Amino acid sequence: MFTQETVTNAIMSRKIKLPDQEVTWLRKHHNDFTHKELAEKYEVCLDTLKRLLMRLELQYFPGAKYQIKPTPESWSRPCIFCGCNEPRPKNQYRCDTCVDREGDAERVTLEQHQQTQARKKPYKPEVPW
Ligand SMILES: [Zn+2]
Repeated sequence: MFTQETVTNAIMSRKIKLPDQEVTWLRKHHNDFTHKELAEKYEVCLDTLKRLLMRLELQYFPGAKYQIKPTPESWSRPCIFCGCNEPRPKNQYRCDTCVDREGDAERVTLEQHQQTQARKKPYKPEVPW
């Protein structure tokens, strides 16, 4: 039987292999047990178990949270704002700190925007005669 750690590692990393014995057992018997029973057997949560079954291509679960995402490519291009070159997802031109900072700036702008809107006087049409 594989441990919780093995299951988690196997899902997170494509390099780690589950013990063949267990995979063979799972291939034969995954339909004989409920997901809850299997999750208890491996002491993992239901979502983790479902991801595992997906990874082994035994069962398919729709929904983004079950999809196993490949590790995104990263680059260490200097951030266009602060110039730091911490690795970040490819095509992201700003470092995470700057992205966060911009999020805060946008929120303030939106609040200010709403205040400005509230201060506007009601519209009075001017009649030219
Ligand atoms: Zn930055």
